Amino acid sequence: MDAPKKGLLPVNEALEKIFQEITPIEESESVGVMAAFNRTLGEEIVSPINVPAYDNSAMDGYAMQGADLPESGTVTLNVIGSSFAGTPFDGTMQAGQSVRIMTGAKIPDGADTVIMQEKATREDDQVTFSSEDNHNAGENVRMAGEDMKTGETVLHPGKKLGAAELGMVASLGYGTIKVKKRIKVAFFSTGDELCSAGEPLGDSQIYDSNRYTVFSMLSDLGVELIDLGIIRDKRELIEQAFKDAAAQADVVITSGGVSVGEADFVKETLDKLGEVNFWRIAMKPGKPLAFGKLDDAWFFGLPGNPVSAMVTFLQFVRPALNHLAGKERATPFRIPLHCSNKLKKRPGRLEFQRGILEKGENGETVVRGAGAQGSHILRSMSIADCFIVLPEDNGGVEAGDWVEVEPFL
Ligand code: AMP
Ligand code: MG
Repeated sequence: MDAPKKGLLPVNEALEKIFQEITPIEESESVGVMAAFNRTLGEEIVSPINVPAYDNSAMDGYAMQGADLPESGTVTLNVIGSSFAGTPFDGTMQAGQSVRIMTGAKIPDGADTVIMQEKATREDDQVTFSSEDNHNAGENVRMAGEDMKTGETVLHPGKKLGAAELGMVASLGYGTIKVKKRIKVAFFSTGDELCSAGEPLGDSQIYDSNRYTVFSMLSDLGVELIDLGIIRDKRELIEQAFKDAAAQADVVITSGGVSVGEADFVKETLDKLGEVNFWRIAMKPGKPLAFGKLDDAWFFGLPGNPVSAMVTFLQFVRPALNHLAGKERATPFRIPLHCSNKLKKRPGRLEFQRGILEKGENGETVVRGAGAQGSHILRSMSIADCFIVLPEDNGGVEAGDWVEVEPFL
């Protein structure tokens, strides 16, 4: 691969530097299972029971002994009782016998097979099965512990707790679980030109959109949020805002003011208050990025352009916050797809172009560029459903070329 343009830091190197610096938090707390949603597991979950707790039926039908199944012709068994979910059959079943059984009900002692009711002919206290239905001994039985076994470690610390995980710990009987401490993130936008949504727009002002995209992307991560609004490009205000933010939060995120030649006091203030690196990253959009420490808080300074702010957040801040929160590291999910149109690109920087997934001529999934790719075209992020990730050395894409696609998940 060609080296990136001189003086620019490759994306993966920047990410590695961030990962090297940040050590995951250790503190955890116990919370109720529902309160644990979207948080990070802080303990090992070892199953105290079998799930399912007992062998049970996967079908409504008849429990029987597989050895009674006929090789040819039919077999007729005596129905000696029934087993419902919550009300099992009380007793032991013998050869030549059968028990009416419902889904989830306990398999009676002596039985090892369930024949679904659609394949059974019931007449009074007798039921008949035919060899023509190709039954197998042992079918339609869910074994105890098939999902989770007593003593088995089923979840590890660092797992993000979503719907399936909450259901799992609940099915093991946990009332509370240990989760990692929630990270506090303070965020604000910088710029004299910015106006908050809902306020009248002055001359040569623009509405602040970054605080809303950053808010949304942070909300998805389940962190605690502190919205510090818009801070004007004034030395004292910036300094005060950085101090306030660092005092309250584990992480401070700003947007704007990190480009070269811009109001130098942002850099000056950050130098004075902490240790912040101003990187020029070999990526597009989103070349400038500031990363470092403000007192005890981690600091990320995102570029001001709306698409750049989102892309740098998704590529650097999101993995960094997940790492800080103690989550398992996830490599970005990228898939090769054919691109259905021509894409312009110059070699030198890794590009995150916005793409739209669609069906190709043969029903296969292909990707198409989402139109205008300017770093100010926020709508491109809305109409897109993926990034088309074009490597540094790529010099443009022709229709039909393979490209790497990173779906928005
Ligand atoms: P800056 O990095 O501050 O030079 O900003 C780069 C570009 O992004 C300028 O056109 C800014 O007006 C714009 N910009 C900066 N901050 C925001 C924001 N919070 N919302 C929308 N646009 C912004
Ligand atoms: Mg600015």
